[in-house]
Amino acid sequence: MSLKGKVAVVTGSTSGIGLAIARAYAEQGANLVINGLGDAAAIEAERAKIESDFGVKALYSDANMLSHVEIEGMVKLAETELGSCDILVNNAGIQYVAPVEEFPIEKWDQIIAINLSAAFYATRAAVPGMKARKWGRIINTASAHALVASPFKSAYVAAKHGIAGLTKTVALETATFGITCNAICPGYVWTPLVEKQIPDQAKARGISEEQVKRDVLLAAQPTKEFVTVEEVAALALWLTSDGARSITGTMQQIDGGWVAE
Ligand code: NAD
Repeated sequence: MSLKGKVAVVTGSTSGIGLAIARAYAEQGANLVINGLGDAAAIEAERAKIESDFGVKALYSDANMLSHVEIEGMVKLAETELGSCDILVNNAGIQYVAPVEEFPIEKWDQIIAINLSAAFYATRAAVPGMKARKWGRIINTASAHALVASPFKSAYVAAKHGIAGLTKTVALETATFGITCNAICPGYVWTPLVEKQIPDQAKARGISEEQVKRDVLLAAQPTKEFVTVEEVAALALWLTSDGARSITGTMQQIDGGWVAE
């Protein structure tokens, strides 16, 4: 599969799932706009490595997903500097865990903004160009939590269910323009975010790191194994292919059987 001549904008691609998706697209020849927060030197090193590993152009946008103006600027950057925004992956996301009655209002607002509204802003900005070119792929990194809930994650679950609704609506509106819009719904994925919590959880609970993985984190995941970022990236890549052109408005579960239970 070749993505030569295509331009992908991947939000939240300085780490984890987004970085793996960006690298998978670059490997197929797509030029990129990467985005996310983090240490400037580390981000520059990742950007330069994508260019040298795959011989593509990779630009960095520091757009904060809290700002619709900056998000529109990120899509414009792709269009003006690289010629188009053909593939949009709305992936940036954050989490916060607390009982609903104690959930800080500013955390609710932030999660709804970054995990849901940012996808709307970016989609709104990218769709006109996609419609004009009669080709586009929009992929929203949702979650198993777009389909089922867990306690103490009210904002995250609400935002991810919202992403499911946005995905289906955009799919209907763009269906006759060669554009598809789908959501990827991972279960627990092995990312730095997850990895970092394990030693602390083991210490706090007085159990082994293996027990934390199996009995705490993977309690809901029947395979008892983490999904890998490469597996999520392979699914994102497949959704951009010509073979997937009739797949639109779907929730693609990649969760080791989680929501089947
Ligand atoms: P991560 O923390 O490794 O990556 C998150 C990315 O989002 C980073 O690049 C970060 O800089 C960026 N980001 C956060 N706030 C931002 C902001 N205000 N503006 C711009 N960028 C911002 O996490 P991840 O696990 O790779 O998560 C990526 C996506 O996958 C999220 O939407 C998350 O909800 C979803 N997801 C993750 C898992 C999992 O188990 N890791 C499971 C299901 C869904």
